[in-house]
Amino acid sequence: MKHTMPELPYALEALAPKMSRETLEYHYGKHLQTYVDNLNKLIVGTPYEAQPLDEIVRHADGGIFNNAAQTWNHTFFFRMLTPEQPAMPASLAERLARDFGSVEAFREQFTKAALGLFGSGWVWLVVDKQGRLSIVAKPNAGNPLTDGLRPVLTLDVWEHAYYIDYRNRRADFIAAWWELVDWRKVADRCIPRRWRCKSCDYVYDPAKGDPETGIAPGTFFEDIPETWTCPICGLYKSEFIPLDE
Ligand code: MN
Repeated sequence: MKHTMPELPYALEALAPKMSRETLEYHYGKHLQTYVDNLNKLIVGTPYEAQPLDEIVRHADGGIFNNAAQTWNHTFFFRMLTPEQPAMPASLAERLARDFGSVEAFREQFTKAALGLFGSGWVWLVVDKQGRLSIVAKPNAGNPLTDGLRPVLTLDVWEHAYYIDYRNRRADFIAAWWELVDWRKVADRCIPRRWRCKSCDYVYDPAKGDPETGIAPGTFFEDIPETWTCPICGLYKSEFIPLDE
């Protein structure tokens, strides 16, 4: 499987001045491109050649892990940004208040983790199988998928993420990044939704999973393998639609 560059949901200059066009040209256009190219070269002739990106991240090590995880991490990082920040959905604010005390306490803890991460790495907001949110800091290419956690939001604190715009001032970069986070996408990723089979009206409930086919309770629909089919009528996963609640 050949891995490709993700499309950005905004123009290269759209995040300026918080994140300049030049930063995007290097960070997205050169750093990420290099990870994608290296991954495609390294997997040739290995079992990883046939696997989707998240499976490689979960199981590989060494250079294949580093380049696969950096591809996954950057794709996710860029996709969670927006030039027009929406208000935080109340459902997300409630979740953050439940697990961190308040939205402000969450921001403080996340910022502290990002400032305190020595050297290169990533800070993550993750949700576990019980639906609980927590903050995880990972050095280098680290990704919480390897711990069975679902990424909800990530911040790249490698120097290449901020050196053009902020030089050594990581704190200023973090402050600007907070204003680019797409809170709607964050809410979508941390609150599991139910999905309905278009053909037979079976509803996949993430709280129950589908234990008969090995899908554990607590599994988000989005995290079910693409090979999974409707347990009632056999329709493909891609034919399910989310229930708006
Ligand atoms: Mn980066």
